[in-house]
Amino acid sequence: MSDRLPIAIIGAGPVGLAAAAHLLVRGERPLVLEAGPAVGHAVAQWAHVRLFTPWRYCLDGAARRLLEASGWQAPPEEEIPTGRDLIARYLAPLGALLAPHITLNARVSAITRQGADKAKDAGRAGRPFLLRIGEEEVVAARAVIDASGTWFTPSPAGADGLPALGERRAAARVQYGIPGILGAERARHAGRHTVVLGGGHSALNSLIDLATLAREAPATRITWLMRKATVEAAFGGEGADALAARGALGSAARSLVESGTVTVRSPFLVEAVRETGAGLVIEGAGGTRVEADELIVATGFRPDLAPLSELRLALDPALDCAAKLGPLIDPNIHSCGTVRPHGAAELAHPEPGFYIAGMKSYGRAPTFLLATGHEQVRSIAAALAGDAEAAARVELELPETGVCNTGPVTRQRVSVTAATGCCAPQPKPACCG
Ligand SMILES: Cc1cc2nc3c(=O)[nH]c(=O)nc-3n(C[C@H](O)[C@H](O)[C@H](O)COP(=O)(O)OP(=O)(O)OC[C@H]3O[C@@H](n4cnc5c(N)ncnc54)[C@H](O)[C@@H]3O)c2cc1C
Repeated sequence: MSDRLPIAIIGAGPVGLAAAAHLLVRGERPLVLEAGPAVGHAVAQWAHVRLFTPWRYCLDGAARRLLEASGWQAPPEEEIPTGRDLIARYLAPLGALLAPHITLNARVSAITRQGADKAKDAGRAGRPFLLRIGEEEVVAARAVIDASGTWFTPSPAGADGLPALGERRAAARVQYGIPGILGAERARHAGRHTVVLGGGHSALNSLIDLATLAREAPATRITWLMRKATVEAAFGGEGADALAARGALGSAARSLVESGTVTVRSPFLVEAVRETGAGLVIEGAGGTRVEADELIVATGFRPDLAPLSELRLALDPALDCAAKLGPLIDPNIHSCGTVRPHGAAELAHPEPGFYIAGMKSYGRAPTFLLATGHEQVRSIAAALAGDAEAAARVELELPETGVCNTGPVTRQRVSVTAATGCCAPQPKPACCG
């Protein structure tokens, strides 16, 4: 009976839709459950942001073949889309094609096995999954791919991982992620002092937008706080990055710092965010403090594991990603951010038939690329369809970040089996020396 049930996919983002395409191609029956009112609901929140990968790294192979068969034309390979373009030219047409397999406005609040809580062994693998939609509705599935992303669970400002003291009370002056500084949020930042907190690409995007705004509204002031010991580490691979647009973000930030447009305080370990009525005081370790009007928190994202509490998971203790994936993507180990390709074997959990894919599969690690997610779901779909050979064969072209500088930066065709090496493509390690 279980075999006749669909394979549930949580989330109609790029990776969830790609998973549906791969399953369809294999003759399986996907059922995509999306919390938002349209496909690409998380991408729509950052529609104004330009990606750093060109289209050729944004399109999934199976999705592309389905779309092309319907008369769709792929965008130019080297053009770089915004989030809005990604939806309009790819996700929306793909969503329309897959519409019979997608349920919108369906938030998965919990997943379990029929008649068995997490502690019960007997016949577990043969029991269907039950997905609770909201409070009252239940959907049964023979397997589950959780591709629900991390966009809606941003990390807080506190350097210790908890919301800083006062952070929640100061919510009216605090934004997370990459707000639309040059669009809907312009009035909030023009002519005012905004602090950007974080050392990753999201922070760089906000700093560059604030600097653009400062040219139009010269009283705009920008301060950049980060945990990193020196700002240099936040500039990334720059000219050595195989993705030119990603490298350019770092170079643009460097010139904003060197020109004095952006004032840097690092390391700055946020302990408290105090709303004073007139503005904010951001307090750091050792008595450091910065006064500002607005705070943009860009300290990364983390997975929402609450809906998974009745499933048997093997999670990396540091990153909350699949345990086998942890050592491959841990930013404490891999300064390069170049991650070797991986598939169903690395993403498996003790709960048979359950996988976390896409952005959520990386837990708290910051280096996820769509191309990696597409390869993940190709492999998972093969595993669920019983094609072990295709599931184990992992092939992916990875653009390197160029941060390690131990060798020439190249784009290499990688073909590895699950157990080889670290992040470095063979035969010549170019990263993580
Ligand atoms: C600003 C930004 C820029 C990026 N730029 C690049 C880039 O240039 N190149 C690149 O390769 N990658 C980039 N990434 C990383 C990554 O590729 C994207 O985040 C991508 O959107 C991840 O796709 P996803 O399908 O895993 O998750 P998401 O796009 O986050 O989709 C998850 C979906 O699940 C839904 N959902 C969430 N919870 C539930 C629930 N409980 N029940 C049902 N549905 C739910 C959401 O509404 C959403 O539609 C970027 C990320 C960000 C945030």
